[in-house]
Amino acid sequence: MEFFSFLFGKKKEEAKLKSSTEQPFHMVKKETVDWRNSEPHLLLLSQFLYGQNAKDAIPPHWEGILGELPQRAVDRFILEGWLVPASLSTKLDRTFSATEIKKLLKERGLRVSGPKGQGIERLLTSDPEGMEAKVSQLDIVECSSEARIMAERFVIERKARKEAAQGNCLKHLRRGNLQGASLTVAQFEARQTFSSKVGEIDCNVEFLKVIFHSRPKILTGLAESEWEPLRIGAAMMALWGTSKATKWLPTNFVGIPRFKHDTAANMILIHAYYRQSISSYLKEGRDVVKKVEVIGAPDSCSQCKKIAGRTYSINTVPELPYEKCTHEWGCHCVIAPVA
Ligand SMILES: [Zn+2]
Repeated sequence: MEFFSFLFGKKKEEAKLKSSTEQPFHMVKKETVDWRNSEPHLLLLSQFLYGQNAKDAIPPHWEGILGELPQRAVDRFILEGWLVPASLSTKLDRTFSATEIKKLLKERGLRVSGPKGQGIERLLTSDPEGMEAKVSQLDIVECSSEARIMAERFVIERKARKEAAQGNCLKHLRRGNLQGASLTVAQFEARQTFSSKVGEIDCNVEFLKVIFHSRPKILTGLAESEWEPLRIGAAMMALWGTSKATKWLPTNFVGIPRFKHDTAANMILIHAYYRQSISSYLKEGRDVVKKVEVIGAPDSCSQCKKIAGRTYSINTVPELPYEKCTHEWGCHCVIAPVA
């Protein structure tokens, strides 16, 4: 008897030690963490809307914003039933690309055409055991129906907040209030779980000024009245880090025939970067930067290839984007100082 209690007692001690250090899933206690009001936790939950590996899916740097190890939060979601084992179709969707699903359909003589989701349904109807065998070993979990409601609401509200901030920013730009536009982005970013742009506000305003004085030759033919709206579109791209400007252009925007509107706005940005580089080299002084080299893009057109790799003095370097460029996406050449 003594012997057994000694044994069990020791085991208990070991378990205690273990749970205080690494807290494996089965030992995590139910806790009353108020994560429903924690944006980082709701963001974490939303990562599982379409299924996600239960282990190691969330990068460790989330610990800082969650205030706990991501795995610990995920394990608690599982323990409390907010995350449940993913359905077979979710597992297949997470595991196989659209092309791989088509291949599986073809191998079984099933209809290949149509969206991925429908292909998965056909596979599950015709070969449920075979499909289960392919993904049964995977530890993929997804939101429970209750968690799904919360996570989806969170995603919708997050999107709405972003759209409202973008609307405000656009208003500022249209009034010529570059500081206000920049501040709107900074304030939005500061409220984000992961912020990226905070602290760059002065830089942004300087760059916006360059955009609003930009008139690259490659856009010759753009109507006088359309420069301002296109610059606003380009500024929105720069501020919000997107590659699309069309949604911020007036519906009657004509542009120029040779470029799509997004490309035209991007030419403004490339020109602004070019001008900012030139002025910073001039500021550093001609003793520091004597020459610049034009760096081409991998798919540069034949015209851009003629200037790419060549070095120029700051006075003679061709304007970028290169006005003779023939690429449908425009010139993506940049300049770099020659040491
Ligand atoms: Zn080109």
